[in-house]
Amino acid sequence: MAFPSNASYLIIGAGIHGLSTAFHLAQALKSTGRGSGEDVLVLDKTSIGAGASGIACGVVRNNYFQPAMRELMAHSVSVWESDAEKYHYHAVGYMQISPECMHEDVASIAEQQKQIGYESVFIEGAKASRDYMRGMFDDWQAEGITSVLHEKPGGYANNTSSLYGLADKAEAEGVRILTGVTVTGFESANSSAAITAVQTDRGRIECDFVVVAAGPWAKSVWEMLELPRTVTIKGRDGTIHDDVPMWVFWSLQEGTLGVDPDLQKTNDGGFPPVIHVDSDAPLFSDVDGSLITEQMWGIYYKPDFHFGGIQGGAAPDKITTPPDEVMVDPYGTESPDYVVDEEFAHMWCSALAHCQKRFSGQIVKYKNEPSGGIGAFTPDSFPVFDLFRENCYVIADSNHGYKMIGVGKLVAGEICSSPSELLKPFRFSRYAEGKLHPVSHSPFPWS
Ligand SMILES: Cc1cc2nc3c(=O)[nH]c(=O)nc-3n(C[C@H](O)[C@H](O)[C@H](O)COP(=O)(O)OP(=O)(O)OC[C@H]3O[C@@H](n4cnc5c(N)ncnc54)[C@H](O)[C@@H]3O)c2cc1C
Repeated sequence: MAFPSNASYLIIGAGIHGLSTAFHLAQALKSTGRGSGEDVLVLDKTSIGAGASGIACGVVRNNYFQPAMRELMAHSVSVWESDAEKYHYHAVGYMQISPECMHEDVASIAEQQKQIGYESVFIEGAKASRDYMRGMFDDWQAEGITSVLHEKPGGYANNTSSLYGLADKAEAEGVRILTGVTVTGFESANSSAAITAVQTDRGRIECDFVVVAAGPWAKSVWEMLELPRTVTIKGRDGTIHDDVPMWVFWSLQEGTLGVDPDLQKTNDGGFPPVIHVDSDAPLFSDVDGSLITEQMWGIYYKPDFHFGGIQGGAAPDKITTPPDEVMVDPYGTESPDYVVDEEFAHMWCSALAHCQKRFSGQIVKYKNEPSGGIGAFTPDSFPVFDLFRENCYVIADSNHGYKMIGVGKLVAGEICSSPSELLKPFRFSRYAEGKLHPVSHSPFPWS
């Protein structure tokens, strides 16, 4: 097929957001009589799933302290559930297991889940929490836990398989997905006007509307669009913070313990929910008993046949290299700089053993292969979903957005003139206006 010279709707990035937007836009164009999937072109510089979506752990949860995040996640879970088979989605549920310093935050999450009809069980108190966990895993032994939030919906999906499922659905609607094409710039009458064409390494493509879903490459496309490199933020107390960098990078720490995934069955032989434990109990080495940390730590894990073992991660590391100098390519497991190291394996495997006795002594089976990857984060670590330059929609999920499959559906609706209340709290203007999301006590930047 010839290289296209124009497209009504051009989407940059074939990850979860680009593909979800493409599929749902095709449907929305058809249902509103405005066109069809044949009007939608997706470009990716490498391949489907070449970015963060293709290496994500794939956890899908509602557990966010921020009300707007929770409502968005509830919507996204409904999209995962709408075609679980094609999306390779496993609705095993999710558990947030927490120490006393997070009790109040998690209680408010549980309360608001009730209000929005998101099914969960909230267990409070050290003994009740231990009993609940032992009812599920008889080897549960984590210290200092005083609450358990058990979300019944949610779970995880298999990263690349879900993307191919989405791509099939988009292509069945007539969408064209072109890989091996890098977007290098934009054309417009001036630096703030609407985009008229996209420049690529294979030629220019005229277009009426652009969607940017570039994941960890958000910063480079943002700069091609000549959007502000720094922002002014009005803090919760009214203080003005000038010159805050728009993009910072964090390195996500994940790995796989190469044991039989069946090792992590529940007492009744079923597949367990995704487990997320945050703790302020001292963490000791499962190898030699030495102290690893007395600071707050957090891990998550699940049995996963796709990864071939118990797969999960720990809190991410902020990359201290100035954002302009961070090399995003080669990405993910190909990166020479940003894959996890032995320190992660030691901490994560010791934390697994801290939580469940069955993991004690298993560190020797940790898969010593490159894993993890970096993400571009916004100033508050929450997404920006907004229209810029009149006809350019940017989906920047701040790198915890594999679960946010429903955003593409809402963006498609906005493109077809149905504004979304769920997306409103994520506009870029929130920084200047001081309409910030509340901050929790979690050790993770995104909770
Ligand atoms: C190790 C790791 C684990 C994670 N685990 C989870 C998790 O369990 N749950 C969760 O919700 N989130 C998770 N995340 C975050 C999640 O993966 C990302 O937020 C999400 O996948 C981003 O999707 P995207 O479609 O915006 O970007 P991506 O999936 O990164 O896709 C962007 C695409 O754009 C293409 N591209 C970039 N620049 C250009 C250009 N100039 N021209 C053409 N194409 C371009 C890239 O090739 C890429 O394929 C994880 C992230 C990492 C790194």
